[in-house]
Amino acid sequence: MKALKIGWAGLGNMGTAMASNLLKAGYEVIVYNRTRDKEAALTAAGASSAASLPDLVDSCDVIFTMLSDDHAVKAVYNKEELLSEARAGKLFIDMSTVSPDTSKYLSSLCQKHEANFLDAPVSGSVKPAQDGTLIILAGGSIENYEKAKPLFDVLGKLSLHLGEAGAGSSAKLAINYLLGINILGLAETVLFAGKNGISKENMLTIINEGAVGNGLTKLKTPSILNNEFPAAFALKYIVKDLNLAKDAGLASPMSETLLSSFNQAVNQGLGDEDLMAVIKSLK
Ligand code: NAP
Repeated sequence: MKALKIGWAGLGNMGTAMASNLLKAGYEVIVYNRTRDKEAALTAAGASSAASLPDLVDSCDVIFTMLSDDHAVKAVYNKEELLSEARAGKLFIDMSTVSPDTSKYLSSLCQKHEANFLDAPVSGSVKPAQDGTLIILAGGSIENYEKAKPLFDVLGKLSLHLGEAGAGSSAKLAINYLLGINILGLAETVLFAGKNGISKENMLTIINEGAVGNGLTKLKTPSILNNEFPAAFALKYIVKDLNLAKDAGLASPMSETLLSSFNQAVNQGLGDEDLMAVIKSLK
């Protein structure tokens, strides 16, 4: 068992896979999820469960959060008794995708109680989370980054220290803009080809075998072929991220098109399906 005690709050699609990898790497992991029954997979694998969020923080040296959005992380960090002078020296790492301003705010909350903070959102979805091949985008002090690096090495294939608090979140919003462009481009290309009699199978082969194919087009090919879109990255979250990017200064004709297409899909009830389900909405 490794000496550092790890706390993990947020056992959704990403958090469950990531916390499992820390457990497998030999860390003592204590978990907490708002919906308590989602802790079962982790506790069955050897993690312990904290009675409450403040208890989780009490027991651990490093506390990870992997939550849905800005509202969720603010609710958790502002929870009564979560942060107090007793938290001095602990390291809080938020891996959720949130606005750079929220990351700076969480950092200042931690600083007030002499606790340490890193924003460390990730590039990569559930499969890389399971395989420990995420790309981790960190903001905060270099000392805190160096302390977290052995943990990041378990969770990802690469971690980058990008600057002060908020820098990780800024990079994450930029990469998710490109994610949205890729997904929408893929959906529209397959549908356009289909209109002119080219099958999905043939069009996806042409894409994936050529220079315009990439890891993402290959990853999404089975769901397009089977017309099944179980959420790896829920469609509602790309809308969240594009709106955060807009608030952070993204202003381009393409970003407006992305927002309008993904918003339309959410309005059609596809928000909890994978973001590739935008193809159903465009049909
Ligand atoms: P998810 O499956 O929807 O899980 C969200 C988690 O947040 C759940 O544990 C949920 O608890 C918790 N939560 C939500 N509101 C809360 C609140 N007010 N208080 C306490 N807990 C709350 O999401 P995910 O796919 O794991 O994504 C997590 C984050 O990573 C998001 O910011 C997302 O944008 C980002 N991300 C996702 C992917 C991906 O491919 N999925 C990739 C990169 C980054 P309950 O179980 O109680 O609802």
